[in-house]
Amino acid sequence: MRGRAFGESDKIVTFLTRDLGKITGIAKGAKRSKRRFVNVLEPFTAVDVTLRIRPHSDLAFINACVLAEVYYSFTKDLEKFGYASYVLELTDRLIRGQEAGAETYDLVRDVFRFLDRCRPEPGILRAFELHLLRQTGYEPVLHECQACGAAYREAGRLFVQPLHGGVRCGSCVGESRAHEASADTIARLIDFQESVFDEADSSQFALSPRNADEARTLVRSFFASSLTKPLASERLLDDL
Ligand SMILES: [Zn+2]
Repeated sequence: MRGRAFGESDKIVTFLTRDLGKITGIAKGAKRSKRRFVNVLEPFTAVDVTLRIRPHSDLAFINACVLAEVYYSFTKDLEKFGYASYVLELTDRLIRGQEAGAETYDLVRDVFRFLDRCRPEPGILRAFELHLLRQTGYEPVLHECQACGAAYREAGRLFVQPLHGGVRCGSCVGESRAHEASADTIARLIDFQESVFDEADSSQFALSPRNADEARTLVRSFFASSLTKPLASERLLDDL
């Protein structure tokens, strides 16, 4: 996920692992000995890492690290780099310690493989966010009003209400904070909830500029409490 130099010769690196959640380790001599850790302690790199977990410390020892998968296009294409950075940064912000499971690891890997293979479209980030919400137990209910059960297509005015975890119709929306939503954007978000990244192509995540803005506001409203500080990668994407 990220790394930084530590002292003269060491490096501290945070990994998203498949089996142990998010783990931070120290690679002794990583800056001095190019031989032991060649290009393996960089973001967007999948590695097989051998760690020694220390019982009374948050910092593991990184004993060895072997390259497993590299997403080369991220370093050549600034837009892909921005998208991939967003995926990592949001995951890093939302996942604490060992609460990430294998499914989070697989999700990030599948989105990276998709981005490496396909043209980036804003919808891929919304799809990623919706899958992440499902994994953390906050999947929004979008297909019907959560109060009266009216199908979103027949509900008239539609609102997304983060507090209630999904969509409400105009009659049921009440007083708490809500974002008005169009049925066509909600339809795309429902598609994204079902998306399978390794079979997808870019066209499945394409959105008109209006739908893209709306989709971002709607999905991001579910993360609001976790995102009090803006993401650096989002500023990059806005600039692009
Ligand atoms: Zn209703």
